[in-house]
Order: sequence, then structure tokens, then C-alpha cells
Amino acid sequence: MKIGVIGTGYVGMVTAVCLADLGHDVIGTDIDKEKIDKASQGICHIYEPGLEPLLQKNLEKGNLSFSHDLEETIRASDVLFVCVNTPQREDGSADMCYVESTSRSIAENLNKYKVVVEKSTVPVKTSMWIKRTISLYKKGGGEFDVASNPEFLREGTAVADFMHPDRVIIGVETKRAEDVLVKIYDTFKDKILVTNIDTAELIKHASNSFLALKISYINLMAELCEKTDADVELVAKGMGLDERIGERFLRAGLGYGGSCFPKDVRALIKIGEDLGVDLALLKEVDRINTSRIQSYIAKVKKALWIIKDKKVAVLGLAFKPETDDIRNAPSIALIEELQNEGAFLRLYDPEAMDNMRSITPEDPPKIVYTENPYDAVKDANAVLIVTEWEEFRFIDLPKVKDLMANPIIIDGRNVFDPEEVRNLGFEYYSVGRQ
Ligand code: NAD
Repeated sequence: MKIGVIGTGYVGMVTAVCLADLGHDVIGTDIDKEKIDKASQGICHIYEPGLEPLLQKNLEKGNLSFSHDLEETIRASDVLFVCVNTPQREDGSADMCYVESTSRSIAENLNKYKVVVEKSTVPVKTSMWIKRTISLYKKGGGEFDVASNPEFLREGTAVADFMHPDRVIIGVETKRAEDVLVKIYDTFKDKILVTNIDTAELIKHASNSFLALKISYINLMAELCEKTDADVELVAKGMGLDERIGERFLRAGLGYGGSCFPKDVRALIKIGEDLGVDLALLKEVDRINTSRIQSYIAKVKKALWIIKDKKVAVLGLAFKPETDDIRNAPSIALIEELQNEGAFLRLYDPEAMDNMRSITPEDPPKIVYTENPYDAVKDANAVLIVTEWEEFRFIDLPKVKDLMANPIIIDGRNVFDPEEVRNLGFEYYSVGRQ
């Protein structure tokens, strides 16, 4: 069985490399030539721990390759994993133009039976559209099945997530497609849940929205904590000890970002609207999340009074640690607000600075990217912790204090222990605790 992976972004690259590592014969393709050139040379275009060595290992083994030729990849493959982007449109719905164009390419190159697998996150009922598109445009006499196999990996731990899944969801409408996918995922056979396609598509959106809901819920509790003597870290711990709730995704902070949660929550709201189901609960989840930056800016103002002409160090640009991804990162809105207020910004992130530079270019002295966190805090009037990288958790705080003009930390991720930092002489603000 030859597996083709269409779209070698964050999901497609991990899928191609990991499926090859499981022993399959895999070819990856993408419209972005640079990604394919790099991948063919064993270079990963994204920062994802553990991925590049695995890419090199499987290229050497010979069962993984990359091609610019989409048509040839489709023709050579028995199974096609569609991993293209499904970004947010202005009305909140998912933009399916890349999935549609991929479906047309598949239709035009349907030389033999193929299973077309939706791995991208797509609205429920997408399989019906893919089927219709392939049927309308198909040239050869080849048969095909559409299946759904949503991806649950998290950037930063993507390889481990793929190789040790909590579950493998397989949405199918024929036994033939089920057999193909069950064979591919034979290593994880105890984790497989077979459903119909609508169910599989919905499982992905329902899961992401539920996790986003947990984050917004604890952020709402953080707001209550800030008006009282309660400590949100202990509220979360106390809640999480209840097995029915669980402690994960109860971290108060600047809210969720990334390429998935914000767009997937909005896409599900739109799906509800289109199907006549009011998902007001999720509208509230989205509202709470987008309000996080404003409440953080209010804290910065509380500490600095006037932001104009203040030197502000921003530690962390990625939407979460262990990734270079800045899509929908809270840092973007924060930097924009601080720029509007007239701050001099010194930015540092271990992995995401190149990506941030592409949308917010260096512009000294207003915007400066620094080599390390200590350089960023030099002469700063305040340090803002925006991403909870381990590097910041273990930063030399006495050294930071010596370097700063005013020892003020506004911690958006509750990285530090308030008592410890205050004992070192810092003025310290965090989320949901005094
Ligand atoms: P991405 O933007 O990193 O990658 C998508 C890739 O598809 C790009 O490299 C793009 O060039 C390529 N592409 C677009 N149209 C193409 C075409 N016609 N032919 C070949 N290649 C094409 O996106 P991503 O983060 O990998 O996400 C992909 C999908 O997976 C989305 O639906 C996303 O919601 C979902 N998902 C993402 C994550 C994540 O953590 N990033 C996790 C689970 C699911």
C-alpha cells in the first residue's frame, strides 16, 4: 500500500514521517516547493521536537520521499491523507477551498481505487462535498472511498502524540475503507474507534471546543479570584482532583491561541448556525478568550500607569511552549496594543522570533528582537511573560532584577511563585492570584 500525504505543514509532515516510521511506504507533497525541497534534504521547515531526526532516519531507510508533483503523488498512491489547511473565513466558517482543490486534483488523477482520508479538521458533512466533487470531476474509471481520520496531535509534542495516541478515530461508510485504515493503524489497534463519517468529523470539532471551553472556564474563575482572596492555581488544583473534571486544560493565563482552537470554536459556532442549532455556549467561550488580552493590558497599565515611552520586555512569542508557531498567538494582539500605546518593545522567544519578524519586522528602537532573555530585560521598565517556556521558569531572577530599570514582572502564565519573586524585590502581577 502506498500512502500519499497531501500538504506537509505541521500535521502533514508529522503524519508522513510517523506513518513511514510505522513501516509504511509514504510520499509527501505540497504546493510550497521550499517545504518539499527542505524535507527531501532531511530538513524540517517547522520546529517540532524529535521530528527532524525521524525524518532523516526514514529518508535513509528509503520508505519516505517527497515530491513537488501533486498529480504523480496522487496517481502513485492507494491512500491519500489530506492534510491541507482549513483556515478561518471572515464569517467564522472554515475555508474549504484547499480541500476542494485537492479533491479536484484527486478526481483528475483517479487511476485506481483510492481511499481519500480527511485528516484536516473539517466541518461535519465535508465528506459528502468531497465525494460529490470527486464524482463530478473524475476522469478515469477509478473507484474511491472517502474516510475521516481526524488528527489530535499537539504542536510541541506532536511526534509522541502521533505515536502514542489516546484514540484513533476512523470514520467510514464502507468495509473496504475501514479495512484499509485499520491496517494502516494496526500498531494502535486497541485505540481504534470506528464510526460513521459525520460522527468522526464531529468528534474532532467537539473535542477542540470542549478543551477551549475548559480554558475559558478557568480564565473566568481567574477573574473572580482577582476580585477576592482566592488563588486560581489552587482552585484549578482542587477542581482537577475530581476525576470527573481532571486537572489538564485548567491553566489560567492569556487564553488559548494557535491555528486550531480559535478557528475551530468559531467554525463549530458557524456549523451550528447553518444547521439551526444555537451554540451560544461556544460564543461565550470565544468572547472570554478574546477579552484576555484586554484584561492583561489593564494589568500592564496598573503597573506602569502610562505605557508610552516605557521599555517593555516581552518574553515568549509562540502561542505555547515548544513550538515556533505564532498563528493566533496572544503575543500578536499584545504587541499591537503595546505599539499603539507607544512602548519600546524588546522581544525574545527561543524558537518563534523568525516567524514574528515576518509579521512585525525589527524597527529599532521601537521593536528590537534580542539574542537571549537577559538582553531583552536590560533597562526594561517591565517584563511581560507571555509564553511559559521552561527557559523562563528557570531564569536567573536576581540577574534579571539587576538588569532591569524597574523590577516589575507581569506574568501572563503564572510561571513564578508570587512569594518567591516578591522576596527577591520584584513588584509582581500574575493571573487569578494576589
Ligand atoms: P499548515 O498550514 O501548517 O499546513 C497545510 C499545508 O497544506 C501547507 O504546507 C500548504 O502549502 C499545503 N497545501 C495547501 N493546499 C494544498 C494543495 N492543494 N496541495 C498540496 N498542498 C497544499 O496547517 P496545519 O497546521 O498542518 O493544519 C492542517 C490541518 O490540520 C488543518 O485543518 C488544521 O486545523 C488541522 N490540525 C492542525 C493541528 C495543529 O496542531 N497544527 C492539529 C490537528 C489538526
